[in-house]
Amino acid sequence: MDHYLVSARKYRPSTFDSVVGQRALTSTLKNAIASGRLAHSYLFTGSRGVGKTSCARIFAKTINCEHPTADGEACNECASCRAFNAGNSLNIIEMDAASNNGVDAMRELVDQVMVAPTQGRYRVFIIDEVHMLSNAAFNAFLKTLEEPPAHVIFILATTEKHKIIPTILSRCQIYDFNTISIRDMVDHLKMVAANEGIAAEDSALALIARKADGAMRDALSIFDQVAASSRNNITRAAALESLNMLDHALFLRLLDAFLKGDVAQTWLIYKEVRSRGFDSHFFIAELAAFMRDLMVAREPATASLLDADASEAAQLTEAAQKCTPGFIYRAMCLLNEADLNYRTASGKQFLVELTLAKICQSVRPSTNSGRAGGQLKPIDRPAAPAEPAKVAKIANVEPMPMPAPKAPTPAPTLRPVGRGPTLRGRAQAASDERKPEATLTTQRSNPFTREAFVKAWETFMAAHPREQILVNTMRASVPQAAEGKDHAFVMTVANDMQLDLMGRQMPALLTHLRGSLENDLITIDVELETGPGSSSTWTEREVYENMRATIPSFSKFIADFELTLG
Ligand SMILES: [Zn+2]
Repeated sequence: MDHYLVSARKYRPSTFDSVVGQRALTSTLKNAIASGRLAHSYLFTGSRGVGKTSCARIFAKTINCEHPTADGEACNECASCRAFNAGNSLNIIEMDAASNNGVDAMRELVDQVMVAPTQGRYRVFIIDEVHMLSNAAFNAFLKTLEEPPAHVIFILATTEKHKIIPTILSRCQIYDFNTISIRDMVDHLKMVAANEGIAAEDSALALIARKADGAMRDALSIFDQVAASSRNNITRAAALESLNMLDHALFLRLLDAFLKGDVAQTWLIYKEVRSRGFDSHFFIAELAAFMRDLMVAREPATASLLDADASEAAQLTEAAQKCTPGFIYRAMCLLNEADLNYRTASGKQFLVELTLAKICQSVRPSTNSGRAGGQLKPIDRPAAPAEPAKVAKIANVEPMPMPAPKAPTPAPTLRPVGRGPTLRGRAQAASDERKPEATLTTQRSNPFTREAFVKAWETFMAAHPREQILVNTMRASVPQAAEGKDHAFVMTVANDMQLDLMGRQMPALLTHLRGSLENDLITIDVELETGPGSSSTWTEREVYENMRATIPSFSKFIADFELTLG
């Protein structure tokens, strides 16, 4: 065991070409070195384990190499290269700002900057996690960063570029490192496995890469761990076992159950997950990630967003074709909701089971509801697998506004206003209650003349020729505009019977008036006439004669419809 080196160290890249997953960036660096165009300070940014420090070390070695290759790589044979590879070159100084963030450590470094190299051409200062430097340390460093001696090159590295102040950013050449894709990691792990004589299934390496979450260094450590526990035979089962990961196959089974609306089956699969010792919150998160992968695998345009090895990608793409985007979206929303509520839920298992049931129910959206997963179809009716095109069509018609329900026939309610009891048309109240829907269409507010109002009033009467009392009441009491209001009218009636009658007719009447005059603001208060000399003392004949005299169009209306007093 003396010679056992962990893979992360043994396979640390020693040339730019051996850095995994940063091809574009390393070739830019190589070109800069080959053409001799070196900056004084570089900023390497990217998440942990993507090769920032490795690249910085290779860079330092390459610019000091006595016989660099034509394409800008170090020879790895000269005295300088050997010193670098053995880790005892004096031309590379590394400082971890996370643990040395004070001004004293920085002053020490600045002092070293002044010392010229005894061997080689450049001294390279690598400051890792540079965003951790204190303000005082930053200030002590700034002057040196602005005007470093010719033999000095700074390489600043950070996982949090947004924390770097502009003064530093503007003085550095910036290199953004990619997160390493699963495919790149799998390729690298395959190479390591072959070198070490370890048997490894591709899909097992993909699991290791997934677990490493973009960090090559972690992937290599995990690789060592799985190799040890599986006695150098890395199968998918062994990897799943030792990494405590949920298999895609389980989620594919779960998906089938969702698409069949088989709630019971989803609960059984969930029980299997629990009995294998997995945390329910982890299960929700993994299922959400699986749904997200399905979503991107569904369309060729987003397939590049899928980070998976080839066989896994093919499985996901096939599974995604069985789903509508609407279903996947609703499932993602439900899982997100469960994730947010998980911590505070008193019954965690219940929360997960309910979520699984909701996902089953959301395979086909209800036509009544625009909300994702809002409306559930009956749980006891197993659904056939979704037909993509059909469901998409239903989803498309969802936003249509519902037709306004017919106003109920109201019992007139009376309230005293002004001279006597009045009655506000119930249709007004009814339409107020419908406001949320009504806002879908714009409210009409056309101006109209008194004449147009009377005409609309008359056509309503004409539409009810058999309802003599109504026609007579309306004829006798054409509403007057309420003072100070544009669209509010007051109708004065002679007795309780008329008050009652108008109350019942008001919804239909208002609908008619608002429709003909294209104005939804019209309201009519009905009042009982109580004052002296009131119209209640008029006979029908008097009313009739009065209207003929005061409303010009009335005579014509009488003639046109051949009306007579009953
Ligand atoms: Zn060399």
